[in-house]
Amino acid sequence: MSDIVSEVRRRRTFAIISHPDAGKTTLTEKLLLFSGAINIAGSVKARKAARHATSDWMEIEKQRGISVASSVMQMEYRDCVINLLDTPGHQDFSEDTYRVLTAVDAALMVIDAANGVEPQTRRLLQVCRARNTPILTFVNKMDREVQAPLDVMDEIERELGMTVVPFTWPVGMGKLFHGVYDRRSDQMRVFTPGEDRVGGDEEVLAGLDNPETARRFGLEWQQARDELELVAGASPAFDEAEFLAGKQTPMLFGSAINNFGVREVLDALVDLAPPPGPKPALQRVVEPTEPKFSGVVFKIQANMDPAHRDRIAFVRCASGHFQRGMKLKVTRNGKELRPNTVVSFLSQRRELLDEAFAGDIIGIPNHGVLQLGDTLTEGEALQFTGLPFFAPEIIRNVEVADPLRTKQLKAGLTQLGEEGAIQVFRPMAGSVLMLGAVGQLQFEVVQHRLETEYGVKARITPSAYHVVRWVTCPPENGGEQELKRFIDANLHRMAWDAVDAPAILVDHSATLRAVEANWPKIQFHAMREHA
Ligand code: GDP
Repeated sequence: MSDIVSEVRRRRTFAIISHPDAGKTTLTEKLLLFSGAINIAGSVKARKAARHATSDWMEIEKQRGISVASSVMQMEYRDCVINLLDTPGHQDFSEDTYRVLTAVDAALMVIDAANGVEPQTRRLLQVCRARNTPILTFVNKMDREVQAPLDVMDEIERELGMTVVPFTWPVGMGKLFHGVYDRRSDQMRVFTPGEDRVGGDEEVLAGLDNPETARRFGLEWQQARDELELVAGASPAFDEAEFLAGKQTPMLFGSAINNFGVREVLDALVDLAPPPGPKPALQRVVEPTEPKFSGVVFKIQANMDPAHRDRIAFVRCASGHFQRGMKLKVTRNGKELRPNTVVSFLSQRRELLDEAFAGDIIGIPNHGVLQLGDTLTEGEALQFTGLPFFAPEIIRNVEVADPLRTKQLKAGLTQLGEEGAIQVFRPMAGSVLMLGAVGQLQFEVVQHRLETEYGVKARITPSAYHVVRWVTCPPENGGEQELKRFIDANLHRMAWDAVDAPAILVDHSATLRAVEANWPKIQFHAMREHA
């Protein structure tokens, strides 16, 4: 029992959020390197390449040089077990990314110091903010000619609405990047370019008034000191409660490719990021240290080998002690499951794969028993809440080229819908199925998979609809009866989603506003939580 408490306390589960090219892959690799989980840089990229080679439908990703599938990396650093969840990096990403963010306790925001806050970072950060996820900020690429650090700091505060607390401050940039001054330990860490060094041997110079620092780094040092004075006057002291509420973010500067500032990121994660906390279920709140296991499926990934129709359910452990081979119940339908082959993620300790605690991610291969949002327990009827489905931003019609294969199309779409690869809408009146996605790429992936995995050539054509909203009616507004009245009156543009939740589809947002004005008792939702 006390074992569980100490295991939970040493867990840190986080994701990196960034815009493509900010340096997420590089930093991920360096984090693994510094923690000792891998020995040589290049492994993460190599692993990505190997993964692509085995998968047919991922051909699309390969061609575009992006990664749609997320994965999990586990590393040990100091006395902590760190789980790093990968999020897709391309701007044409799917809802998967959002759902991954529901499974983490903190996020590391990587900013390219030259580009500042970029669109995808903004989008991902909004999701984190909505959930009050604590954010650490790493400003990368200081070895380049970049924006002035005060401007970067300003931009983050202004654009993302968070108070930034610089933990380190850069001395120079680009060719004249000399290192960072660490405000908390009152010392400067001197930068030497080079990919091979793994920390520990960095030169440090103590104090702000150190004559040697002033002599060696002249103008850049003077400027950094001036800026530090401004920063000291303008930014508040670090406040743990504000950080944990996602309102304040500690900021660190560095250069991932040069291994500079990486150890400090790991230290900050261990020291500041919270261990797993309580998780709300419909029935009650579940504490991570409870003895009985519980977990939630936040991601389903098709097997890399399209010849096998099995999939891997990614389960975030919420409580208890998971052991390989233990009996688990899927609370949605009461089915039992005894996962013996738990998928191994990149991890330095083999035995970690046999057991897991709150915060850890386990991968359970299955043939469709597990769906997104499913709760697994040792028997208790629990349903975790909070796994979001977003109203798609692009809608298409889908038809089968050969009408004799309509059944296969439906079967394929049902499975792909359950995986969360795409959202499928069945019109209440009419027969042409509709697909909804957050990014254009999702359609291509689905079309490709329908053909290779289900033998269906699908035609994906434009739709007259551009906006979808799920509709509900609370009991005090007339409940089911009022909802039925609404559905009947709008039947020609109503559809069921994959779990038979009703949704309205309209041509554009002006129409939606008119409908909303006409039906004040009905609630229109851009997001649906798995219930
Ligand atoms: P991702 O798309 O966010 O995963 O970005 P990558 O890690 O693939 O990096 C994008 C590019 O930036 C690559 O060419 C990296 O070598 C480069 N890069 C990453 N970190 C740094 C850095 O600290 N300094 C410089 N100059 N380049 C970097």
